[in-house]
Parts: sequence; C-alpha cells; structure tokens
Amino acid sequence: MGTPTARVATTTDPAPASFVTHEVTNQPPPLDGYNLFTTDRVLGDALTRAGAAWSRDGAVALGAELGGAPLEWGRLANQHTPVLRTHDRWGHRIDEVEFHPAWHDLMRTSVAHGLHALPWREPRAGAHAARAARFFLMTQVEAGHLCPISMTYSGVPALRAQPELAAEWEPRLTSTVYDPRMRPAAEKTGALCGMAMTEKQGGSDVRANTTRAVPLGAPGPGREYAITGHKWFCSAPMCDVFLVLAYTERGLSCFALPRFLPDGTRNAFHLQRLKDKLGNRSNASSEVEFHGAWARMVGGEGRGVPTIIEMVNHTRLDCTIGSAAGMRAALVQAIHHARHRSAFGKRLAEHALMQNVLADLAIESEAATTLMMRLTQAYDAGVSDEERAFARLATAVAKYWVCKRQPPFVAEALECLGGAGYVEEAPLARFFREAPLNGVWEGSGNVICLDVLRAMGREPEAVDAFFREVDRGRGLDTRLDAFVDAIRDELRDFADVERRARRLVERMALALQGSLLVRVATPAVTGAFVESRVAGDHGRAFGTLPRGVDCAAILERAFPA
Ligand SMILES: Cc1cc2nc3c(=O)[nH]c(=O)nc-3n(C[C@H](O)[C@H](O)[C@H](O)COP(=O)(O)OP(=O)(O)OC[C@H]3O[C@@H](n4cnc5c(N)ncnc54)[C@H](O)[C@@H]3O)c2cc1C
Repeated sequence: MGTPTARVATTTDPAPASFVTHEVTNQPPPLDGYNLFTTDRVLGDALTRAGAAWSRDGAVALGAELGGAPLEWGRLANQHTPVLRTHDRWGHRIDEVEFHPAWHDLMRTSVAHGLHALPWREPRAGAHAARAARFFLMTQVEAGHLCPISMTYSGVPALRAQPELAAEWEPRLTSTVYDPRMRPAAEKTGALCGMAMTEKQGGSDVRANTTRAVPLGAPGPGREYAITGHKWFCSAPMCDVFLVLAYTERGLSCFALPRFLPDGTRNAFHLQRLKDKLGNRSNASSEVEFHGAWARMVGGEGRGVPTIIEMVNHTRLDCTIGSAAGMRAALVQAIHHARHRSAFGKRLAEHALMQNVLADLAIESEAATTLMMRLTQAYDAGVSDEERAFARLATAVAKYWVCKRQPPFVAEALECLGGAGYVEEAPLARFFREAPLNGVWEGSGNVICLDVLRAMGREPEAVDAFFREVDRGRGLDTRLDAFVDAIRDELRDFADVERRARRLVERMALALQGSLLVRVATPAVTGAFVESRVAGDHGRAFGTLPRGVDCAAILERAFPA
C-alpha cells in the first residue's frame, strides 16, 4: 500500500464538479414574490376600520406588484443617483436633472396608483386611508421618489386657496399619467408639484427668509410677481410647479412658481447644485436661485405661512406614514431572516432572546401603523369639526413620535441580520440611511413639540378632541387609564412647559397608541404594549419585553410564516 499523496491544483486543471468548500448554506432565500398588502394584517384591518374597504382591491394589486421587480428598482434608483445638467452641449442653461430609468419606473407606478392624488380624485370616506395604505406599501420598496409624490398630494389643498390657480393646476396634478418630459405643463399629460421654503439662514424659522417678490402689475392674490432669491433645499426640482415663500412689502407670502413661463420659455429657476445626502439618494434635492422668476401669488398677501401650512400638514402626515412604513419594511426583513437563518443549533427566530427583540419591534410597528391609519381618517372631506380639531393636534403628536422611533427601530432590525444587514446588498443599509429623514423634514423634533404647545395654547378644542379619542379606550385597561390621568395632571401645570415638551408629546403619543391598540389589537399585542410602553416594564433598548409576553403570537400576526 502506497502513502496517499496530495497535489496542488494548477490553473490548467479542469474545474471540479462541485466546490465543496464553497457550498453556500444557511442563507435565507430572497424575500420577494410576496404580496406586501395581504401579508400585513394590521394594515388590512386598519384599512377596513377607516371605511376604505372599497379600496382593498387596489391595495391588493399594488401589494402584489411591489413584491416583484420594484424591489430591484429601489436598489437601482439609489445606486445610480440623479445627475445635474445645468447647461446643454451648446452652453444654454437648461437646469435639468437626469435620472436612472428605475426612478421613472417607480414614479410611474406611484402615479398610476394615485399615491399623489387619490383623495382629490375620489373625495369619499376613507380616501386618505386608501391612499395612505398604498403610500405605506410603496415606501417599503423605495422612499426617495415619494418626496415629489407627497409634495404633489400636499400641494393641492394649499393651491385651493387660490381657486383660479387650482382650476388650472389641479387637473394636471391629479392625472394618473406620469409625464417626466421637460415641457410646459399645459403640453403634458400629468404634472408634479414641489415646495421651496428653506433658505440658508433659516429653515424652521421661515420668517428669516430673504427671497423677495415684486409685483409685475397690480399686487395681490392670483397676481403676477417677479421673485429673486434662493432656496437651500428644493427637493425634486424636476417638478412642474413649486409653492415658494417670498416677502412682499406686506409680509411673507406664498407663490406658485412654474418651471415654464406662459409663453413656453423656461422660467428663471436656476439649479446651483444637488445635495450629497446621507440617504434618500434617489431623490434629487437641490439648491436653487430665482433670478426674477415669474410666479403668481397663492392666498392672501402676507399670509404665506397660513397658506402653505395646508401643504405642510399633509406632508407631516406623510412623514408619519413614511416612518411607519420604514419600520414595517425593516421588520419584515428581520423576521424573514430570523426564520431562515440558524445559529447554535436552531433557527434564530426560535431563540427566546431573538423572539423578544422581534416581538418588541413588531408591537412598535403595529402601534405606528395603527396610529397613522387612524389619523388619515381625520383628513377626509366632510369630516366633523371634532375630527379636524383632533387632526390639528394628533398630526403633530404622531409625526414627532413615529418619526423619532424609526432610526433606533431600523438599527435594531438591521442587527437581526448580523453582518449581512450592514452590507449594501441587503436593503437594510438603505433603510437605515433613510430612517432619520422624516424626523428632520417638515418640522424637526423640537419644532414639532413647540407646535403641539402652540396648538394646545390657541385651540383648546384640539386638546378636548385629542383626549376624547384617547378616552374611547377608557375602562379597557386600568394601567392605561392611570397613564392618561397622569398626563392630564401634567397638562394642568404649564410652568416650564417648553422644557418638558418632548416628554409630554411622547406620553401623549403613547396614550393615543395605547388607546387605539386596546380597542383593536389582539390581547398579545395589547398586553405587551401596555405593559412595556405604558406601565413602563421595559428596558431602554428593543428586546426588553417583560416575562409572559406571547412573542410567537405577536410574530405570527406581524408577518405570517
Ligand atoms: C433631504 C432633504 C430634503 C429637503 N427638501 C426640502 C424642500 O424640498 N423644500 C424645503 O423647503 N425644505 C426642504 N428641506 C429642508 C428641511 O425642511 C429643513 O432642513 C428643516 O425644516 C429644518 O430646518 P433647518 O435645516 O434650517 O434647521 P434649523 O431650523 O436651523 O433647526 C436646527 C435644529 O434646531 C431645532 N430648533 C429650531 N428652532 C428651535 C426652537 N425654537 N427651540 C428648540 N429647538 C429648535 C430644530 O428642531 C433642529 O433640530 C429638506 C431637507 C432635507 C434634509
């Protein structure tokens, strides 16, 4: 018997039949080909509760569509970022942005499904919930392109302050045809709306604006002005019209500034550069200058903030929907991974500690989704004064808290994938970069909390409406009742309230989420939420739910195996 010998392979050797040392095992299958809507019971139930069962077929169709190719569009649109073209090859200014085809695919899909306009096209009960559900689904695929979608949706109610401008623009802005051509809006089959308020010297404090508007004839609402100045953030500069704030002699006013003049030539709307951003990379956020740009006044002269606030409130609603969706997107990835990946002899999802992390994320996600879907109902046409008052306060409260929860939530979900979560091929890295944005947009945390205080001071009916909604859960859980009573006590004392504002708003949000969940969620979810968030039996990180929580039931509800 000879001694067995080994030989180092050479490059001329034929390839072996199998690379045993490189066999890939224990990796989850890709999460695609599933229906984003039908696998989300929380969203489906909320849609029905909001009176939007009529829109279910549309949500099912979109949910199925998004489980396929669009997931890849999201990756491509963020990998191949927009490119600014200030001039053409002959040296003429063009101020255009070029996008990857995947961006246009995303935009076309969102516009076709009415994410930018459904409640204005079909102003019926549940319309805002119907639209929110679709926005929620689409955000899970790609968030960046929803910036112009959201601004178009939000721009319509602000434009209505000037009926002749609304009559001109609304049919274009509510068209379900996406038309990305750089043409005068009158020649297009659909148009989009942007917003430009923020300047270098002040974003939250728009009173610091320096942009000026000079009348081109008689001044006043609907009249023509020349606008000179700059905006430091103007997202989606390929929109067809922008709502812009600028000073006239009588104060800060709102204007509709189109990309083209009535004679078909380009307006003096000049792109300086595109922002190099942490996330939201598919979306072209720009710096612009107006060099005597033509615009028409929207709403009363000097009433710019009250006019544009209609737009701001709707975008705040969208920040809440977007953050709830960002959490859902990350949750689903984490659960899927944990159900397929094994460590130390069993699936990650079978380990008690991982179950605690996933269940804790799942109840946070359910609370966010339930809250934002309830809020959408208050936006429907023809709702009572009580609902409007509720929306005034609840929009700010929900925007603050749901957006605040997204970054730590997505970080924790990312960690559930281990190292794989940190690399670009998994969407978690993109979701993580996106996570802080809704908190900054449309009123950063402190500004929103101050807005809550302002609303409470000026509109006591909003406080009453908010607590009447919270009280609909009274008697269903004594711990929740005690929590709400304590907030009411806190509110009796307004001394030093600014310093306490974040704490107060957080507790109001938890009270509202708790009240909604005790009414509509399963005992497992409700028990875990109230015990941890309301009664305070919880640590400072996710995965610290107390003993006795039925994690398996919570996870099965969140994303059926
Ligand atoms: C990706 C992206 C896209 C954007 N797109 C647009 C766009 O299309 N159009 C547009 O108009 N804007 C846009 N913005 C701007 C955005 O809305 C502003 O950045 C935001 O409103 C905050 O304004 P600011 O940056 O000037 O911050 P500041 O107002 O300087 O605020 C800085 C910090 O101070 C806090 N703060 C402010 N005032 C107070 C106070 N009184 N008390 C305590 N704390 C306070 C804020 O909460 C914040 O944390 C965009 C921003 C980003 C990041």
